Amino acid sequence: TAFPQSEILDRLHAVFGFNAFRGVQADVVERVLAGRSTLAVMPTGAGKSLTYQLPAVMLPGTCVVVSPLIALMHDQLRSATANGIRAATLTSVDMDRGQTIDRFLAGDLDLLYVAPERASQPHFLDMLTRGRVAMFAIDEAHCVSEWGHDFRPDYRLLRPLMDAFPDVPRLALTATADRHTRADILAQLGIPEEGLIVAGFDRPNIRYAITPRDNPLRQLMTVIAENPGPGIVYAPTRAQVEKLSQQLQASGRPCLPYHAGLDPQVRADNQARFVASEDMVMVATVAFGMGIDKPDVRFVAHAACPKSIESYYQETGRAGRDGDPSVAVMLWGAEDFVRARQRLAEVEEHRRAGERTRIDALASLVETPHCRRALLLRHFGENPPPSCGNCDNCLDAPRVTDATEVARKLLSA
Ligand code: ADP
Ligand code: MG
Repeated sequence: TAFPQSEILDRLHAVFGFNAFRGVQADVVERVLAGRSTLAVMPTGAGKSLTYQLPAVMLPGTCVVVSPLIALMHDQLRSATANGIRAATLTSVDMDRGQTIDRFLAGDLDLLYVAPERASQPHFLDMLTRGRVAMFAIDEAHCVSEWGHDFRPDYRLLRPLMDAFPDVPRLALTATADRHTRADILAQLGIPEEGLIVAGFDRPNIRYAITPRDNPLRQLMTVIAENPGPGIVYAPTRAQVEKLSQQLQASGRPCLPYHAGLDPQVRADNQARFVASEDMVMVATVAFGMGIDKPDVRFVAHAACPKSIESYYQETGRAGRDGDPSVAVMLWGAEDFVRARQRLAEVEEHRRAGERTRIDALASLVETPHCRRALLLRHFGENPPPSCGNCDNCLDAPRVTDATEVARKLLSA
């Protein structure tokens, strides 16, 4: 069963109160919901727990979570329960094990936390076969590898247990795994190589540029002309997508539209053609992107400001997954911010402050004369060098002109 993006985002908000995924969270969740085993390498604090907790809530059955420390499990149990997730731990110190087993068998648990040594107990396998397992989540998955910094032999018992459920997806999570360790985790846990997702928020092969919109058609034509490989142009409305996909034909490149208003069959066809193409330009609303596996996207252009830094990062992040040089160009106008601020009035009161913060963060990304990448990475909690050498501000001398002054006034209006 495929879940529409809107449903995933609704549940993200309903269960956790978050408005957007961070970094690769969306990709990990999408893969797991599609039943595909995955190894996610994400820095500490990147939000790994959510990548199994959200699918656990959405998929029928229980997510069996393996975690190396009882204290860690009880922390996770507390925060999951606080979010209204049906969760329990099954460890030697839990006195209510019988009740937990009954809840599992009754299908009354989203999450069941267990220690790895339990995996070797025959009655645990027996119990799992009598209930319904939605997925396996293996936290601190580097423990399975002798290459890792914290090898736990018990983690090796997980493979035979999981192999008894060949159709159940496995999600391995770790913050710390070098190339050797990653390969070893994949092999030890039976996860295919294509299932590796590495976060680290920096995308050094993407060149960021953010530029005032004066003649958008000409500016987009230039981006397309300078980047012969496949690309995505994001436009804010369906009408603009339709119009731009016509106009950009003049570039001589194949252009197709993609938005939620198109017939599902047309949408699927356009997507398939884009994925197979080496020079196509997909003109799309944000409905396009999640779960699309195309590693050689060479550019992502925004015809207008996205909703937030998170959206910007996620949308531009679709460029250059193969690691080759790629560009992200955003055109912005003061009216993007005027409109965003006007929309604040329609936002429910309790969400307004958060929305305002998001708009302000986006404005600072747009107006900074300093390194764009450094600002982005700091936004995601990293501590980057002050200058990256691969964004417009690092490559050009900072432009301190009247235009910037005007923009600054408009942005803070
Ligand atoms: P990790 O296991 O990678 O160290 P956690 O799962 O503990 O990270 O999450 C770190 C923090 O980030 C938690 O406070 C969590 O609530 C928060 N968080 C996770 N995902 C999001 C998101 N999409 N938006 C905002 N905050 C998030
Ligand atoms: Mg964690």
